Amino acid sequence: MIKIIIAGFKGKMGLTATKMVLDRENFELVGVLDPFAVETNLNQFAEFANEDIPVFTKKEEIVKQVAADVWIDFTIPKVAYEHTKYAIEHGIRPVVGTTGFTESQVQELIVESQKRQIGGLIAPNFAIGAILMMQFAQKAAHYFPDVEIMELHHDQKLDAPSGTAVKTAEMIAEVRGHHQQGNPAEKESIPGARGADFEGMKIHSVRLPGLVAHQQVQFGSVGEGLTIRHDSYDRTSFMTGVALGCEKVMELDVLVYGLENLL
Ligand code: NAP
Repeated sequence: MIKIIIAGFKGKMGLTATKMVLDRENFELVGVLDPFAVETNLNQFAEFANEDIPVFTKKEEIVKQVAADVWIDFTIPKVAYEHTKYAIEHGIRPVVGTTGFTESQVQELIVESQKRQIGGLIAPNFAIGAILMMQFAQKAAHYFPDVEIMELHHDQKLDAPSGTAVKTAEMIAEVRGHHQQGNPAEKESIPGARGADFEGMKIHSVRLPGLVAHQQVQFGSVGEGLTIRHDSYDRTSFMTGVALGCEKVMELDVLVYGLENLL
């Protein structure tokens, strides 16, 4: 039985993860965390009336009161780094979906996990289809160096571009290097019109109500184009990956960045 804590359990992803953990026979939910919660037990929520799981408002209380193997984190970019570091320092394996980590933060956490031999996972995208989309995009970039990334999310998302878009851009840059695209004399009459720049490729972030998480990687070449697209229509699309992550981190002794490294 893998004992699990969920940080951000009241959020859209955290709530979906809470249901997933409760539904799985090999997982045991031992606590949930939200600094603003007024409830003290999950059974104070109508949909969890039959559960008996403590609600924590301070991460320091978790380690005092329960023994956990895995820390699932779907919170906000501002606190996720601190949470992940705290989990590693206390021997709890982080499985982090929160996006917005900088490259240096990820590196620091990997070093910290190596020091303590604690397995963990930070995955900008837990949907298997999204992993394939990134891998196909990296493959296509060998032949089509000109590419623009459009990521589309719901309008409550805090960070832009999305972690998935950044990860896709990094994977493309690995195979094609820096490559300046478009007309060198190009001028924006409205700042930002051409999107964000990553190693010469453009990333565009769309935020609209009704969307969940979508990304289109569009390649252009002489006389042809190739578009690779992934759509998460529902947050349950991420849960196969989260569950897999919780199982795999139990066998790891280092923090891994990207679900593709565990498949
Ligand atoms: P959300 O609905 O806004 O949920 C975030 C939750 O975190 C809120 O309930 C918030 O509480 C809570 N929170 C804020 N500060 C906290 C703290 N210090 N400790 C514990 N909880 C805290 O957002 P979401 O759509 O679930 O997304 C959460 C994160 O997951 C985002 O970074 C998003 O980009 C990422 N995401 C990742 C994937 C993936 O596959 N990796 C997929 C989708 C989303 P309040 O609302 O009360 O402030």
